Amino acid sequence: MKKMPKIEKISQKELENFKKFIDEADTIAISAHINPDGDALGSALGLRKSLELYGKKSDVIKISEVDDYLNFLPQIDFYKNPSLEEYDLFIIVDCSEFDRIDKAIEICKKSKKVLVIDHHEGGSIKTDLNIIHSDSPASCELVYEIIKRLKLPIDKEIATLLYAGLVTDTGRFLYSNISELTFYTAADLYKIGADFEMIYKNLYQNKEISKLQFENHLLNKVEFKKPYALVGVSKKTCKDFGVQMGDSESVVNMLRDLKGIEVACLVKEYGENEFKISLRSKDYLDVSKIARDNGGGGHVRASGFTINTDSMDKALNIMKKILEEAIND
Ligand code: 5GP
Ligand code: MN
Repeated sequence: MKKMPKIEKISQKELENFKKFIDEADTIAISAHINPDGDALGSALGLRKSLELYGKKSDVIKISEVDDYLNFLPQIDFYKNPSLEEYDLFIIVDCSEFDRIDKAIEICKKSKKVLVIDHHEGGSIKTDLNIIHSDSPASCELVYEIIKRLKLPIDKEIATLLYAGLVTDTGRFLYSNISELTFYTAADLYKIGADFEMIYKNLYQNKEISKLQFENHLLNKVEFKKPYALVGVSKKTCKDFGVQMGDSESVVNMLRDLKGIEVACLVKEYGENEFKISLRSKDYLDVSKIARDNGGGGHVRASGFTINTDSMDKALNIMKKILEEAIND
């Protein structure tokens, strides 16, 4: 077999430590962040199956409901409640903060060792092993590199999961943080048998008409104030259109793609006094910094955080101030 080109992200030391940690463990728990996206589920479920085939009892811990659009993923039934009370090794994927793994923190605390595989900016989490590479476009790319270089098991389902995460987190191989390694990874996953057509059809050719109508409704409510665009989405609107809050993500991406818009912002009502913010930028604004300054995190071009206030109008006004300050900085 041809050797992998020298475009690796993970250091030899990180790789050896990872191998040592899994070899020393009989039972392994994996958790991704709350409200998992394609990359979070793809990397967690893909890594789980590989470790299981390698001979380890491995569980992915369910901490949220899965949005409907991701229910097609293979192995999705392995996103479930833990089968053990404690594990030898706890692996956090696709986030670098303990509070983002929500209730899985209790199991994490009881584990003998903890390690992180992530690609978000500014991760300062303290664990036994951090494999954090913010120049990676997706956690799935890192998981692929680990599996490949350690010669851990991989099959069609694992390849499909990793490919799904790669496609979603790179915006279908478009975002600026992709590299030669991304295409090499995609090519190899394709060769292994990733079902790219099934992924494509499920993710991009399966939209409910009600979702289109929901997007249309939101687009009509957008406040355009170049270089930013801002819109709020309430729980009631989601209910009225029979969609989930996660269905609004497409809108923030559409707004970011407009000429003259550098930053797009979506304010999502999650709970009483809880508004989750999604930020997307295009050329020059580091939205990971805006998110970190407000208690959240993410990437230079996509980030999020939470605002606690008692009405949508207040949340939108707070957000306008934050954006105007960041733009004038
Ligand atoms: P989204 O807008 O899709 O929810 O999030 C965009 C990016 O920001 C994702 O990479 C996500 O993991 C990150 N992100 C969103 N919300 C939060 C948050 O509350 N805390 C942190 N640390 N990251 C977030
Ligand atoms: Mn990710």
